[in-house]
Amino acid sequence: MTQSRDWLIQWLRDAHAMEEQAETMLSGQLSRLESYPELGDRIRQHLDETRQQASRLKSCLDRIGEESSAMKDAGGKLTAMAQSISGVFAGDEVMKGSLASYTFEHMEIASYTMLIAAANAEGEAEVARVSEQNLREEEAMADWLKSHLAETTQMFLSRAAADSDAAKR
Ligand code: MG
Ligand code: FE
Repeated sequence: MTQSRDWLIQWLRDAHAMEEQAETMLSGQLSRLESYPELGDRIRQHLDETRQQASRLKSCLDRIGEESSAMKDAGGKLTAMAQSISGVFAGDEVMKGSLASYTFEHMEIASYTMLIAAANAEGEAEVARVSEQNLREEEAMADWLKSHLAETTQMFLSRAAADSDAAKR
């Protein structure tokens, strides 16, 4: 087995672990977004996409993963980040969540860009196709988050001001 094939399989495993972390993170965020219906809907949509991404990667791994002698588990690597994202924040969790989501989407974008290059180098057309499909969904999510960040911030600030006024009364 070539070394680049080992790396391809390792990165597929890493991406699968990343999507499992994404699922935890997005589920955690959803529970705090009752007051932000549009953001909540988009995150719910991406949670569904994320589950499909994980299952697409799993299919690739089931097909080619057995070739790998190195069964390294990437599990713990991203745990800290996902925990910090799904943790409790001091009042501005919707903004901290937006910041973390936008960052996470870009890590996913970089991961799939790497996977596509590695898959093409190994002639693994199906891995490249799956990675491109996942990549497009991550890019769409990152674009949506960016284009709604100002609006989310304004909603957060209005709500914070209203809460503050209510507390004074
Ligand atoms: Mg993803
Ligand atoms: Fe994503």
